[in-house]
Amino acid sequence: MKVDYIIVGFGLSGLSIAEHLDNIGKTFMVYDSPLYSSSRVAGGVFNPVVLKRFTAPWNIEAFVDKAIPFYKNLAIKLGDENLVIDQPVLRRFNSIEEQNKWFEACDKPILKSFLSDVLWNYKENELNVPFKLGEVTNTGRIDLNNLLDSYILSLAQRNTYKKEKFQYDELERDSNSIKYKGVESSHLIFAEGHKVVENPYFNHLPVLGNKGEYIVIKSPKLKMNFIFKSSVFIIPLGNHMYKVGATFDRDDKSLNTTTKAQEEIKEKLSKVLNAEYEIMDQVAGIRPTVGDRKPIIGRHFEFSNLYVFNGMGSRGILTAPLSAQWLIDFIEFEKQINPLVDVARFYKKPV
Ligand SMILES: Cc1cc2nc3c(=O)[nH]c(=O)nc-3n(C[C@H](O)[C@H](O)[C@H](O)COP(=O)(O)OP(=O)(O)OC[C@H]3O[C@@H](n4cnc5c(N)ncnc54)[C@H](O)[C@@H]3O)c2cc1C
Repeated sequence: MKVDYIIVGFGLSGLSIAEHLDNIGKTFMVYDSPLYSSSRVAGGVFNPVVLKRFTAPWNIEAFVDKAIPFYKNLAIKLGDENLVIDQPVLRRFNSIEEQNKWFEACDKPILKSFLSDVLWNYKENELNVPFKLGEVTNTGRIDLNNLLDSYILSLAQRNTYKKEKFQYDELERDSNSIKYKGVESSHLIFAEGHKVVENPYFNHLPVLGNKGEYIVIKSPKLKMNFIFKSSVFIIPLGNHMYKVGATFDRDDKSLNTTTKAQEEIKEKLSKVLNAEYEIMDQVAGIRPTVGDRKPIIGRHFEFSNLYVFNGMGSRGILTAPLSAQWLIDFIEFEKQINPLVDVARFYKKPV
């Protein structure tokens, strides 16, 4: 079998690459072992503002402009418009000083289109909101598990998805072609998230990994149809279920859920939620984070038909679609990758 591309890994990164390739008529085969997927654990929130400090992440306007239509079109293509849920993110203020900082941020040109200066006065007893709520716009939630499952189903129907771990030692390559278990391709893109640490071609990259855990609670009295942000996110899932978290842990690289994380989330939740709840589930994943908080995309320093797509960090939903376009434009149309995201920034410079 001959294809244009092999894609290794199918989280948000693999999906974004596949969709861009499909849109320009390129063929591909995906190898994915979904066991380690950060995308399937994520809160699914898309939010263009750093809500701790009210600042804008790097290149956020361009990421938002690409990502929101990307997911909406995908939802239409897959025949399920519920994959994208438009929902405001509301930031709880801890003090009047914080409210004032919010108003200052509203005046900054980069944040003007993302922050509303009209505050919400939330009066229901279930949430403790003493200083009102600030609304972030261009926000919502992607139903990531259903999105990935629907897309994989469509790939499986075209025989372009294999649910199996990619064995690096079975890859045969020379400068013209790549062969892997009977599949021949011109290019191979690795998109394994934090598991890139096991990839012999790219394990030198500083994808640090930051573990995050959520609890899923059921709280029948809490009636909230927005995404609430205090020291934790409370994300409505429907049927009185809410995802609450997440934690950040740079040291633990296991995927086990921990009582430490559960206690931390419960403690933070106790400060804002006055309603009873039951814990229904707990999940853990590892964010593919990089010190400079930017994607890592581009070509291997020695093997010209191997590429990496990684470093989506804690905002993969917004970052992955445009980054995928950058990588495909580079491979197919020789458009230069912005040096700030090019993997070459981690290659040793000649002295
Ligand atoms: C707790 C938590 C909450 C988060 N919340 C949000 C959020 O609300 N919004 C947001 O935008 N981002 C969020 N993120 C970040 C987001 O999950 C990531 O940015 C994004 O999902 C990374 O996608 P990826 O495809 O690069 O990696 P992954 O989703 O990890 O996908 C990589 C895939 O490759 C597979 N794989 C690895 N090695 C191999 C191999 N050898 N062979 C075959 N397959 C392989 C893995 O099993 C996996 O399926 C969160 C992350 C965590 C952990």
